[in-house]
Amino acid sequence: MPTALTHAVSALGLGAILVHPQVSRSVWVCGVALAVVPDLDVFGFQFGMGTKHLWGHRGLSHSLLFAGLLSTLAFLFIAKAYPEAKGRFLWLYFFLCAAFHGILDGLTNGGWGVGFFAPLDSTRYFFPVRPILVSPISLEGLFSDWGLAVLWNEFHWVWLPTLVVITVRMARLNAARQSMERPHPAHDSGRSMTAPRLAGWKRLLFG
Ligand SMILES: [Zn+2]
Repeated sequence: MPTALTHAVSALGLGAILVHPQVSRSVWVCGVALAVVPDLDVFGFQFGMGTKHLWGHRGLSHSLLFAGLLSTLAFLFIAKAYPEAKGRFLWLYFFLCAAFHGILDGLTNGGWGVGFFAPLDSTRYFFPVRPILVSPISLEGLFSDWGLAVLWNEFHWVWLPTLVVITVRMARLNAARQSMERPHPAHDSGRSMTAPRLAGWKRLLFG
């Protein structure tokens, strides 16, 4: 698996595409939690659940079905607790946060394949190209040379692309905000500003 930190970073990158930055902080917290939660299945090792077990590491908790269930719960929770946070891409954002966890795991060069289609199909899948170094599961391993190499590798493959996505999104938001604040000739001549103002808001909200 990539480290939990990198799974969390992936949720921020997805949010930069699908969520307005000023949305309730709870939305971001939910997104990050959904991206990290699948790896709680490592505790299954304590109960003798091997990697072939449905609930074993990278099994059902990494499936698309589980991502769908978790994201629906998160969406319902946010819709009830923070009705103002509703957005047309909110469920999709939550789903991708959870599903992207399995995708990143499937791109790692070690461990076990991912049960994307569990429980219907118990096959564990890897992608044909696997550039991400597999992370140690133990905390000691994480603070070893192996752990540092993994973080450096993840920086290239996940953190940098995420940074690019966030930078582009912020630049587009700034451009939209500036164009909205810029005086429009129609306004000076006393004509209606409704159309350009609506277009400005649309660009600001949806990029
Ligand atoms: Zn995982």
